[in-house]
Amino acid sequence: MHTIALRFLAWMLLIFAAEATASLSAQTAQQTTAKQTSAVSASPVAKPPAKSDGAPAPTRAAMLRGAYGPYRANNDLLYYHLDIRVDPEKQFLSGKNTIRFKMLRDGARIQLDLRDSLTIDKILWNATPLKYQRDTGAVFVDFPRTLRAGQVYSIDFYYSGHPDEYGRFGDITFKKDAAGHPWINTACEGDGASMWWPNKDQWRDEVENMDISVAIPNELVDVSNGKLVGKTDLGDGYTRWDWHVSYPINNYDVSLNIGSYVHFADKLGDLPLDFYVLPEELEKAKVQFAQAKGMLEAYQHYFGPYPFARDGYKLIEAPYTGMEHQSAVTYGNLFKNGYMGRDWTGVGISPRFDFIIIHESGHEWFGNSITAADPSDMWIHEGWTTYLESLYVEYRWGKNDAIKYLGGLKPKVENLRPIVAERGVNAEPDEDQYFKGALMINTLRSVVNDDAKWWPLLHNFYQHFKYQNILTGDVVTYFNQQTGMNLTPVFDQYLRHAHIPRLELLFGEAPGMVMYKWNADESSFAMPVRVGAPGHWQIIYPTTEWQWMQTPLTKEQFQVATDLYYVDVNKQ
Ligand SMILES: [Zn+2]
Repeated sequence: MHTIALRFLAWMLLIFAAEATASLSAQTAQQTTAKQTSAVSASPVAKPPAKSDGAPAPTRAAMLRGAYGPYRANNDLLYYHLDIRVDPEKQFLSGKNTIRFKMLRDGARIQLDLRDSLTIDKILWNATPLKYQRDTGAVFVDFPRTLRAGQVYSIDFYYSGHPDEYGRFGDITFKKDAAGHPWINTACEGDGASMWWPNKDQWRDEVENMDISVAIPNELVDVSNGKLVGKTDLGDGYTRWDWHVSYPINNYDVSLNIGSYVHFADKLGDLPLDFYVLPEELEKAKVQFAQAKGMLEAYQHYFGPYPFARDGYKLIEAPYTGMEHQSAVTYGNLFKNGYMGRDWTGVGISPRFDFIIIHESGHEWFGNSITAADPSDMWIHEGWTTYLESLYVEYRWGKNDAIKYLGGLKPKVENLRPIVAERGVNAEPDEDQYFKGALMINTLRSVVNDDAKWWPLLHNFYQHFKYQNILTGDVVTYFNQQTGMNLTPVFDQYLRHAHIPRLELLFGEAPGMVMYKWNADESSFAMPVRVGAPGHWQIIYPTTEWQWMQTPLTKEQFQVATDLYYVDVNKQ
């Protein structure tokens, strides 16, 4: 102990020297500015960039779309009936959305949304036309008298026009398939459902259920969300397809898929599985879509029954890669494994399964059933669903392959900005929400360090929040309560700062001892981590203050389990 104490004293001096050097090189790093990598790195952790460095100032349209203002907060959505006609040749929509809502406060005005490219034909309250004011995508609807808190009201919002094609998947696209038939699809997450239909276009509030009626030329098929109620020949060359959604649904999940679809079906227990593809893809689809069953079995194993059993599960071919439309997942992954035929995480595991079937369907649990209440907290959709990919791998091929799959995500992480974006301005986080989000959840599993606790924790977390719209704080509170740990600084470091924690290791000249601490933005950051030698890991409990431990390992031999914890390591 005597020599150890002496060495300890000597090291304290070393640390002061090391910290002085680190702070000097941090300044240099900020001047030369290098991209922070997720790999084990000896470069110092620079301060995260200020919010204003990364994100542009929100536009008025983004603020109107993103804020849960007084004319949204004064009411609670109950029901939509979207009842429209789609003319493929004119690329024209017309019809109405019946919107039923309960007032939560007395008021004579509510906020709805519809993009300026579409015309408002009229808004009726029973037979009374309502006045309205349009403002860059928002529609403020005024009533002739005060609506009373607790009362339920219904309006019919008539609209028409040529919607704009915009964004990654076009929001709504009027295409032709290879045979020259119309192929019309929606995918509007981000830009918002008000790109093509009038609604209360935000994430916090959802209708309890919904009807979708779509009139299209007789020879076409519409596949929307929910259960097919029936179709009616309108006698004018058009047929109306009626779908009923019997669960809460996000606006951006509401979808049209209009084409020359052919249908085939299967069942998983009592759950109807319905598949819609273009005729020329039928044989390929019958092979590829068989993966849906194994996917459902895996997710049901971890989280409980498929969330939308009454509506069934559907997989629908679309002209873009894919989207998690509730109970009507769209698919455009070339009927190949991996992502568009590529090894998605580059470690040889992704080619075993169809990335789009596994990822987009995972959103039925995280994204559609549990929904973020603001796009700022979208990691609740994407971080969790990316983690679900690894659960699918674990269910099929075991933990080692799951950890390997997750490790393949690391090169995709940029660590340039926090995962949680600015709230209330319709700000979508960077792609780090996917990969870093999943790596953080895997880190939490190692922190809990007991799979007998981890699996029930995941299951109960999902069950506790299913069909709800939640924020990051809800997740953190739940995990803190259920684990009895204070995980707040851990969540905050990964979600609210650009950089991941770095384990500082300081070795003496002779073997026998190592000093350690976390370098993190969260001053109270504390997280156990496995160190030492693989197969003989030892758990230490570093904080942001220096501690020390004895070790028989040399600096070169001493390792950190970075496949189980997403952290940087700096050995000195
Ligand atoms: Zn996703």
